[in-house]
Amino acid sequence: MAGALALAMLLIVTTDQLFGHSTLAFAAAIVMLFLVNRPILGFNCPRCGKNVFFRGKFAVFWPNRICTRCGLDLDSAAPQNR
Ligand SMILES: [Zn+2]
Repeated sequence: MAGALALAMLLIVTTDQLFGHSTLAFAAAIVMLFLVNRPILGFNCPRCGKNVFFRGKFAVFWPNRICTRCGLDLDSAAPQNR
């Protein structure tokens, strides 16, 4: 999530410097953050509840295959979507 936020801020700043106004970039960033955060917040390991999108301290945009905390094979057990 922090990575996506940094990316969104970078997008805003870059577009702001290139085009002079950042309204569109800001809207795009909000939409992007919404799309990125929704699945990240919803998928957790069915056994231990660890978020499957986090590898150590870093958030990734695709779920882990194997839970980084308890080692559960998430390919066979579908992550809970709550
Ligand atoms: Zn787990």
